[in-house]
Amino acid sequence: MNPSYDFGGQVAFVTGAGSGMGLATARAFARSGAAVALTDVDGTALNTAAEQLAGDGHQVLALTCDVSDEDQVAAAVDRTVETFGRLDMAYNNAGIQIPPVDAAEESAEQFDRVHAVNLRGVWACMKHELRHMRARGSGAIVNCSSLGGLVGLPGRASYHATKHGVIGLTGSAALEYAPRGIRVNAVCPGTIDTPMVSDMIAKGELDRAEAEANQPINRLGTAEEIAEAVLWLCSPGAAFVVGVALPVDGGYVAQ
Ligand code: NAP
Repeated sequence: MNPSYDFGGQVAFVTGAGSGMGLATARAFARSGAAVALTDVDGTALNTAAEQLAGDGHQVLALTCDVSDEDQVAAAVDRTVETFGRLDMAYNNAGIQIPPVDAAEESAEQFDRVHAVNLRGVWACMKHELRHMRARGSGAIVNCSSLGGLVGLPGRASYHATKHGVIGLTGSAALEYAPRGIRVNAVCPGTIDTPMVSDMIAKGELDRAEAEANQPINRLGTAEEIAEAVLWLCSPGAAFVVGVALPVDGGYVAQ
């Protein structure tokens, strides 16, 4: 049985909420009673997700937003607060993968693109969320890193650099804002069965059996298992948890 949370009266903001872990987390927040702002660059997936949740009676807001554009992020966060009156929790999840490449061959364009979404996107979200949360003196932010934030992997230097960077942003902001009532943490998913990973498998960039064997639990994770960790990090049960990079990876980084 999964733990249940009562986030009634609270407001959550989730990026990349049209797919994968963002979608699972938006659903979990909504089912726990929170009003949820779902944001994604993919307007079609976003609207489908939001319509489903609204149809189930949840309070949701769909906002198309490219996290690599700070103005769009600021507007989405502001709109959330205008609509729901406050912001209590955020999962800064949106991210992209890029094809694996020899570190000596990678283009500056690929490096810049993956950093713009995965690192500057988290930076922009956190910045504008903190502006609202600090006014209330409370809040919980979870940033999406990866096992790639904790270890290196051949062919993945730029992606892993972004995820290491997310942990740096998280720890520094956590120290700055813990005394002001806001907790900032990161989650580090292992290999999770989402459209991103299906796409990598389809392109031959990842071998499913190998990925399963690399996780001591011998399977891929589910998006819902990451949502569980995010909700816990946002809950009063994690009131003393500050600045951690929590692996949720079936044991990958414990090896
Ligand atoms: P996913 O299924 O591809 O979902 C990511 C969502 O984010 C998609 O809807 C995507 O839209 C959206 N997105 C992409 N770029 C965006 C942008 N610039 N602004 C706003 N939204 C954007 O991926 P996922 O597997 O759930 O991954 C979620 C996060 O977990 C990412 O940060 C990823 O790096 C991280 N992660 C994933 C794994 C894994 O094994 N799956 C492991 C560790 C960490 P499009 O579909 O249009 O791109």
